[in-house]
Amino acid sequence: MFGVYAPDHDVARLSYFALYALQHRGQESAGIASAHGGHIMTVRDQGLVNQVFDEQKLRALHGEMAIGHVRYSTTGANSWENTQPVWRADTRELALGHNGNLTNAVELHAALRERGVAFRSTSDSEIIAALLSTHPAETVEDAIADVMPQLEGAFSTVVMTKDRVVAFRDPAGLRPLALGMLDGRYCVASESCAFDIIGAEYLREVEPGECVTLGEKGLRTRQVVHGERRAFCVFEHIYFARPDSRLEGRVVQTSRSRMGELLAAEAPAPSADLVIAVPDSGNAAARGYARASGLPQDDGFVKNRYVARTFIQPGQELRKHGLRLKFNPLADVVRGRRLVVVDDSIIRGNTTRQIVQMLRDAGAAEVHLRISAPPIRNPCHYGVDMSTREEMIAHGRTEAEVAEELGADSIAYLSLDGVYAAIDGTRETHCDACFSGDYPLAAGEQGQEKDAFEPVALPLARA
Ligand code: SF4
Repeated sequence: MFGVYAPDHDVARLSYFALYALQHRGQESAGIASAHGGHIMTVRDQGLVNQVFDEQKLRALHGEMAIGHVRYSTTGANSWENTQPVWRADTRELALGHNGNLTNAVELHAALRERGVAFRSTSDSEIIAALLSTHPAETVEDAIADVMPQLEGAFSTVVMTKDRVVAFRDPAGLRPLALGMLDGRYCVASESCAFDIIGAEYLREVEPGECVTLGEKGLRTRQVVHGERRAFCVFEHIYFARPDSRLEGRVVQTSRSRMGELLAAEAPAPSADLVIAVPDSGNAAARGYARASGLPQDDGFVKNRYVARTFIQPGQELRKHGLRLKFNPLADVVRGRRLVVVDDSIIRGNTTRQIVQMLRDAGAAEVHLRISAPPIRNPCHYGVDMSTREEMIAHGRTEAEVAEELGADSIAYLSLDGVYAAIDGTRETHCDACFSGDYPLAAGEQGQEKDAFEPVALPLARA
């Protein structure tokens, strides 16, 4: 997600490159909306950023400001209607991009339908767009101030009207949102890596419950809601964000390599003689593990960088084929070795099982899995597609059973305390529900599996 107000710049091109840097947050569709002379124009389609846009489309999107979005959905509806930015023109014309998941989408949708509001998509993002577009308040900021307390769940959101870009973040700050500056103009992005690629300077994070306006008058901010507690997604630090992004003041790569060091202390592998990473997700943690354990480290796999992430086409069968194309073990490195194989997380375990098998086929003597996060046993209600509990390999299994299921000699995980030590954070200000089952926003969510309304979720590469 990206937004910029910069009349003196090529805002479409800035958005394109920002989205390019944010491609890891969603590969299903991409879109940019720009505003020029009071008119909003949107180009969005299914596919990667560089598949959706070409020179001609970017030239057509010239304007004073723009917003952009990359998307991945959870189930089924990989459709054009669900691509973003969402555009609506009820009483107020706007384009909107949303990262997260509303947990009260069903209720809000029903209430809007009752009022006669029609929807084109099945994404919860259009609910936010409809609430703001139909709102009678004079300014979009006043509409946001009234709508925000009605929304529950995770919503880092960017909205563009004819004359401004406004971004706001849910009161718990579940998903990231950063503020940047480019030649005296302002921009927002899901992650700071988007600023690096366009030469913008990272200023700070948008605060939970805060609404920032980027417009002719520069930057205006308003604290709309004071949340009861912060609950930033700890999985962003572990897996989701790009290693060169800055989250909560820390470079992600540094946190991940620290997780690897702590993992080596918590879960040594006494019989091992070589550390390898599952590329690229385990790279930073493997370096940390090797450093702290004193074991040598090498590349155990060559990764084909031109194969898209394995989840790009939903469905187990395609995922499997994708993986065979993606990793090739280096037999000369792993043959006869007792390996520590480091990765950052395991969800369903399908990818890991095949990785272990490939290493065995290549002659590895022992395979000890070390994971720089705790076991994932609970679904996410806040915008990350983790599927159901039953599909999670750690659900209802001990570590020994998981190891057996994956064909490994052993498996061990970093503790939640270890994760928080690595990011210098506390449970009180983060969400770790997928690990702990403690959902930070509402007491009644513990047993909830999936929202009836289709969420817009972040992708998970792990099968
Ligand atoms: S449940 Fe997990 S993935 Fe979802 S917001 Fe919480 S920590 Fe992040």
